[in-house]
Amino acid sequence: MERRKGDDFNEQTQHKRTRGNFLLSDSIGWGGEPRRNFSVKSAYRVCLGGGDEHLNADWNVISKFRGLPRIRVFLWLLYRGSLLTNSERVRRHLTGDPSCSVCGATLEDVSHLFRHCLEARVIWPRLIRDDKLHEFLYMDFKNWLLLNLRDPNYFPITGMDWDVLFGSILWILWCNRNVRIFSVDTGDPGGVLQRSQRLFEESMRACLPVRRGRLQAPWPMGGNISWSAPPRHWIKINTDGARNNISGLASCGGVGRDDEGNWKFGFSRFLGLCSALEAELWGMFEGLTTAWSLGFTRVIVEVDCRDAYDMITHGNPRQLGSSVLPGLLELYHRRWEVQFRFVRWDGNVPADVMARLAWQGSLGYHRYLEPPSAVRDALLRDVSCPAPVGM
Ligand SMILES: [Zn+2]
Repeated sequence: MERRKGDDFNEQTQHKRTRGNFLLSDSIGWGGEPRRNFSVKSAYRVCLGGGDEHLNADWNVISKFRGLPRIRVFLWLLYRGSLLTNSERVRRHLTGDPSCSVCGATLEDVSHLFRHCLEARVIWPRLIRDDKLHEFLYMDFKNWLLLNLRDPNYFPITGMDWDVLFGSILWILWCNRNVRIFSVDTGDPGGVLQRSQRLFEESMRACLPVRRGRLQAPWPMGGNISWSAPPRHWIKINTDGARNNISGLASCGGVGRDDEGNWKFGFSRFLGLCSALEAELWGMFEGLTTAWSLGFTRVIVEVDCRDAYDMITHGNPRQLGSSVLPGLLELYHRRWEVQFRFVRWDGNVPADVMARLAWQGSLGYHRYLEPPSAVRDALLRDVSCPAPVGM
């Protein structure tokens, strides 16, 4: 639908030729084209009021999106208002209820879903500069979408590759919303930020030229990259959850170690049908329960799921609907010293191995007083590249 540079010229020459050709009789023709021949392109132009330049300019922004092609198409549908949110479904007479199925808000439109619904509301304040947050949350939706793609430094705390991460987050929010509504597994589909980061890293590997060195996290993660020993007289429990996305079955596991990296205990538990986030919380719960039963009084719990970490440190158990969180909070507030830390997944490998061990054994909880052979390599790697004690 691009207007060609020659169109004005053609229009003028056609006009002159028509005027000069006075010997020919008048005839009926299509007024949307200088040559008076009908075309769909010219019909679109007439319908749009004669100018589609802004649409072209906006398409140029979205078409240059550097992430996965499926997300680029998704962003275009989002920009064009074609996503079937409940407000759009009402407009198309597919339903009579425009409310949000996730949080119960009266209107689920794109602005609500991607900026104000439960998950979105938790994510953006972590990534957006404080002085820009209000503008980010309330400006016109289309301009918001384009501005984030066009100017990666305007809103975020760190703008490196923000456009790719931003698109990934929107995509995961949309997928999560659909899983919540349509999936038979009614559990929480899991951490948006964590999944967005993985998708972001996949996108960068797939769509951009190979960079030197390692991909950097696109926002300040705040977690340790490698395992570090706890201070003296403390133990550190690394916990993790694992979930099969096809079957929906999940497990959790963890490792407790002292300030010299010595094995104090390990555990694993097969959980059955369970969400990824709930499995992470079960890992923390079982880790603390084990430490309490063994008489430890100073415990650091490390987890590699940012959403689980935030739930235990800031969450409201009733609002978030987790079955294990109330028990976890009760453990947390007993008469002992417990700290929660966030760690990157590559600093939490032994816990991941323990969580997966649960799939090989019988159902239920298993405690390991000696490290199983499957986890020994990961333990050795942790103590061979130690971070400063007490981190
Ligand atoms: Zn909502």
